[in-house]
Amino acid sequence: MANDKRPASFHSLREIGSNTYLITFHADDDAALDYEPGHVISFDCDDRDGNTLHHPYTVIENDADKRLFSFVFRHIPDGKMTSYLITMQDGDKATFSGKFHEPIADEIADGAQAFIGIATGSGIGPLYGYIKQALADSSIPITLYVGYKTPEDVCLADELNELANKHEHFTWQASVSEPDGSWSGLTGRITHAIADDLDNIEQAHFHLVGNGSMINEMREALYQAGVPKEQVSKESFFNHGVKADGETVEKLVKALTN
Ligand SMILES: Cc1cc2nc3c(=O)[nH]c(=O)nc-3n(C[C@H](O)[C@H](O)[C@H](O)COP(=O)(O)OP(=O)(O)OC[C@H]3O[C@@H](n4cnc5c(N)ncnc54)[C@H](O)[C@@H]3O)c2cc1C
Repeated sequence: MANDKRPASFHSLREIGSNTYLITFHADDDAALDYEPGHVISFDCDDRDGNTLHHPYTVIENDADKRLFSFVFRHIPDGKMTSYLITMQDGDKATFSGKFHEPIADEIADGAQAFIGIATGSGIGPLYGYIKQALADSSIPITLYVGYKTPEDVCLADELNELANKHEHFTWQASVSEPDGSWSGLTGRITHAIADDLDNIEQAHFHLVGNGSMINEMREALYQAGVPKEQVSKESFFNHGVKADGETVEKLVKALTN
């Protein structure tokens, strides 16, 4: 049952960008472990003071044989759950339930000629999981764009470069809003940094993940620029209710349609 709480134990934690982590758990029961990248789990654990914490997270990887599943999270300095997650160690227990939402693979509109993933921060997790899986059996062009604050925040650069070297039909770029002298990539908000360069958007499927504010603006701009609604899917981690700013959307539409 989707809502049954299932036992899990901590397996490993890896910092993949400043303050962003890939955490892996072992499922301690015998039930099916069949998550796809983009499925959401409901995750509970007790912190060291005995407080029960509860939040949803988006699965990036699942290894049914080893009974392991992973998600990527950003450590929020005042956040209760993420401040506990970064302290987890061997022997620590948690529970999880679901699967909720659709995996990314099932959201892609039939006939899409290209896949464009746009993420902010830890939103890279499910897109990275999906892209790794999709590159093995899809030949449509796949592009990933991720927005961060600083160059140190950029996640999984080596892994993404390796995928791009191996698969001609995959490219990725990061944009940072607070670049330093060493940064030679895109700058500014990810949507603004890429909108001018996106071609043939009516034929692509867009998957947007992370900050709800970015998602709501980009989604509205894509619709107004002529992308059919079924070709835009999303997973909002926070700021879900932030309304798209009209002026920002207008700028994006202009850049998308120029
Ligand atoms: C459907 C769904 C799926 C989610 N999947 C993921 C996931 O895969 N990875 C992940 O990191 N988070 C994800 N989240 C957010 C996650 O559930 C928690 O809200 C987050 O980890 C913060 O928990 P906390 O207890 O540490 O902080 P809280 O005390 O709950 O929140 C502190 C503040 O942090 C903000 N915030 C929440 N998430 C983020 C974030 N990712 N980056 C920056 N600011 C944030 C909130 O708006 C809030 O103001 C998801 C949320 C939803 C609704």
